[in-house]
Amino acid sequence: MSFTTRMRGWVAALLGVALLLEGCASTLDVVRIGGGGGPVAAVPRPEPAARSSRGTNVEPAARSAPARAFPYDIAIESIPTPVNHDATRSGAKVAYIVVHYTVISYERTLRAFNNPRSGVSANYVIRGDGKVAEVVSPDDVAWHSGNAWMNDRSVGIELELSAETNPAFTETQYQVGARLTCALSERYGIPIDRKNIIGHVEVPGSTHTDPGPTWDWPRFMWYVKLCAPANASTVKAAFVAQSPFLSVDAGSVGTVQVRLRNTGATTWRKGTKTEARIAIRDDSDAYASLAKDWLAPDRPAAQDEAVVAPGDSATFTFEVRATRPGRYTIPLRGVIDGAAWMNDLGMYTVVTVNEARTEPPSDRGASRASGRRAGD
Ligand SMILES: [Zn+2]
Repeated sequence: MSFTTRMRGWVAALLGVALLLEGCASTLDVVRIGGGGGPVAAVPRPEPAARSSRGTNVEPAARSAPARAFPYDIAIESIPTPVNHDATRSGAKVAYIVVHYTVISYERTLRAFNNPRSGVSANYVIRGDGKVAEVVSPDDVAWHSGNAWMNDRSVGIELELSAETNPAFTETQYQVGARLTCALSERYGIPIDRKNIIGHVEVPGSTHTDPGPTWDWPRFMWYVKLCAPANASTVKAAFVAQSPFLSVDAGSVGTVQVRLRNTGATTWRKGTKTEARIAIRDDSDAYASLAKDWLAPDRPAAQDEAVVAPGDSATFTFEVRATRPGRYTIPLRGVIDGAAWMNDLGMYTVVTVNEARTEPPSDRGASRASGRRAGD
């Protein structure tokens, strides 16, 4: 997977070092940890050694998580803080995820969140190597956004970004942050879009700049869409094409193909909970007599492709066994079983089963214009 924005992100990371001194500082600069006592804004600049001779940032050696195929399950360690949070959301529904960066190291961040004098916390902190600490249960209110209304309705995720320990966002942080976001979206039904997945800078009334210009939003949202749960708000499709209507002789087998574009926000993955299927509309099994190797009498096929990301198209291929002569108009609709129907496109295909005969048909129905959606 290549990200066109990736290089731009790294360049921005180089240019944006000074901006790291801002970001969440006005939240966290109230953190004057016991021993130190000084403001945390006195962050040392990154060591030149942290970069290669080519001038690009080199990610610190992984402290744990090895590279794995995304999406993967993440381990979350519970490290609860006894202070700086509310133990109930008072009935407010979680509808937002707010992304932050820490300015200070992971360790210092956790200390700050345990210090009642700081008055701040977040639900999660993601270390540079992808380690995740749950500091405040997502069912409880962390004090992360500076906006009580938003705190009540959001989960705050802090990404370690610290000149001393993690001078640039890591690939692992993008992936782990996305995986965490997907899990929270599934738990609370948070829509997968930039209205509901926002940066601290976008919180109404925010005086903060994080996650700042080095945070690559398109890259992050791409990952989120790769792991996003399927539900009524994320499962959408548009018609692309389908094979010509079939005309086959009784006793033979024909093939039907339908293509749909994934216009939703979640990726369709064959063999998983987000596998896209072509269904007989309304779960009708009226066409079971035509089924040849279908998934079920009302489910002709699953997607052919392994992975169909938003914007890509899926192919559904199934066979019909012509038995009794007749003309069958089969209504079709995409579905992710256990999650949601795709929008009803009025799609159908027609199978004409001719009496078995020895001469070739004079009018080959299959040569007619390709099948259309109703209403075209
Ligand atoms: Zn922040």
